[in-house]
Amino acid sequence: MLNKLRLLTPGPTPLPEEVRLVLARDMIHHRKQDFVRVMERIQPGLQYLFGTSQQVLPLSCSGTGAMHAAVTNLFAPGEKVLVIEGGKFGERWREIAQSQKLEVVSLVLENGQAVTAEAVREALAADPAVRGVLVQASETSTGVLHPVHELGAVTRDRDVLLVVDGISAVGISPCPMDAWGIDCLLTGSQKGLMLPPGLALLALSARAWDKVRAVGPANFYFNLLAERDKSLVHQTLFTSPVNLLQGLAVSLDLFREATLEGVYRKQWALTAMARTGAASLGLDLLARTHFTWGLTSIRLPAGIDGSLVLKAAAERCGVIMAGGQGEMKKSVIRLGHMGHVDWSDVLAGLHALKTGLAAAGGYSAAKSYMEEAVHAYEEALDGGYPEMRA
Ligand SMILES: *Cc1c(COP(=O)(O)O)cnc(C)c1O
Repeated sequence: MLNKLRLLTPGPTPLPEEVRLVLARDMIHHRKQDFVRVMERIQPGLQYLFGTSQQVLPLSCSGTGAMHAAVTNLFAPGEKVLVIEGGKFGERWREIAQSQKLEVVSLVLENGQAVTAEAVREALAADPAVRGVLVQASETSTGVLHPVHELGAVTRDRDVLLVVDGISAVGISPCPMDAWGIDCLLTGSQKGLMLPPGLALLALSARAWDKVRAVGPANFYFNLLAERDKSLVHQTLFTSPVNLLQGLAVSLDLFREATLEGVYRKQWALTAMARTGAASLGLDLLARTHFTWGLTSIRLPAGIDGSLVLKAAAERCGVIMAGGQGEMKKSVIRLGHMGHVDWSDVLAGLHALKTGLAAAGGYSAAKSYMEEAVHAYEEALDGGYPEMRA
């Protein structure tokens, strides 16, 4: 109660008041005119967000559902795909593809490493049967930004579809679908879009739609051709997640107001702030050159238990951050700064990190000017107000 709870995780993220208010409204019916109006309002906003002239489809599922929809609609069993495995979400691409009986070739990267266009070009040359490249724009498990723009230059002139999980990139850092030659771009509601979890969004290029028609429907639920027909008349195939879509309409208005350029600029600045702050706390960063703009992955000093850092940060500062994933669970802290987050949240995140480190026995760096301000706050809090001391 004394601390404001700050959700600085790489999803879910805090919600703006405008979005929370619309989420609280009573139901409207998904086949009636009021809902059609919401959908009509959403589509141009989604096309602006995705940088596409194609229809952007809302799907009722988490982000992984859209990954599944992409794989099953774009590729037939037995087809070969190249998966960029730079972390847990790259692994997820492989697992989904294998579960659908695709043949998978993996480009496995070290933690913190981004793929290069050269490596993808070589892999495609070595294996001409590959029909798709499956990649994350931002690999959230490590905080790495893959060079999707450069990958688009490799795939666009080949019979190879570029399928991009943009879940922690769309609305956070530039990922214009049409301009970059992306054939499938998808995202989830709970990362950059400032919405609760449960909604995914997906768009396909013209040639990807041709491929979907050639493959033929593989699913009853995730039937993208049928979903597209409904979307063109401003509905969804099954009962719509009505309140999430109403929230999306508001969130897209906020993006329009701020402009994508303005949002990217803010995200870039927050990333610089988080990276500089972590470095000034004497900490190493996991992604050195190709880093995402929605979270900062920080390596802890050897012997420091990340779970203790997270616990102290939450209990003493009200700041909720995430640990690493897989084998980095306790050795990495992920400070999320995507969605409805600003400089004061990042400042709170850095201070919580310092507090957590001190509690876990890993803090020894000198104070910075930001620290001085927070220090004054803490001293005043400890010492109490004058009447208390009288
Ligand atoms: C969060 C995330 C996912 C998983 O999304 P869910 O909504 O949990 O299914 C997949 N890929 C990336 C890059 C993510 O950041």
